[in-house]
Amino acid sequence: MPRIVFVGPPGSGKGTQAAILAKAQGLAHLSTGDLLREAVAAGTPRGQQARSYMEAGRLVPDDLVLQILSERIAAPDAQHGFVLDGYPRNLAQAEALARITPLDAVIAFELSFPELEARLSGRRVCPVCHTVYNIVTKPPATPGVCDREGATLVQRPDDQPAAIRTRLSVYAEETAPLLRYYQDRRLLRTLDARGSAPDVAARLARLLR
Ligand code: ADP
Repeated sequence: MPRIVFVGPPGSGKGTQAAILAKAQGLAHLSTGDLLREAVAAGTPRGQQARSYMEAGRLVPDDLVLQILSERIAAPDAQHGFVLDGYPRNLAQAEALARITPLDAVIAFELSFPELEARLSGRRVCPVCHTVYNIVTKPPATPGVCDREGATLVQRPDDQPAAIRTRLSVYAEETAPLLRYYQDRRLLRTLDARGSAPDVAARLARLLR
């Protein structure tokens, strides 16, 4: 039963790769970013609390994220293994996670800062089907319009330049220390996250064999 965690800076492709790997191996895809965005969209009390942190690119308070994750990880589909994407993001969260579940592997996504910035600032999303585009690397057929829905593409509020800078510095200060934490526990494997999504997926599959 594989229990895999993805750690990496925003824009390194964790969400994309988690979806591909989960589908290929029949694992649950647990994304705290997606769970939080759903709570915001649904307007729940937790969503209302999380919203301003997310839009600014800051971490949502640990206790709130832990509540959301604990509920999700207890669901039936997560009992046969999971890919956890977006959690933990600091040492306190790593310690909380260790109290909930053992892990089999932690994948560290590696990409340079200029590449991260280009991916994040170029990202556009369909508000209807959530397909992710990039104005440089994966543009839609008609600029600004979803290929599937015909809807006008939007930018995530936290993909605005000020929030991108905040997210990258939060990663460097709070999340990057986790690499050492998991290396010390012999769980860490490093993934070169450059290139297209299928290329990275193939590299990841080799890393997990
Ligand atoms: P990215 O990794 O590209 O920043 P995510 O979708 O994983 O995007 O997360 C978006 C936002 O959701 C984060 O900037 C943060 O505000 C919030 N968030 C997600 N996971 C966590 C977490 N484990 N702890 C605190 N905040 C989180």
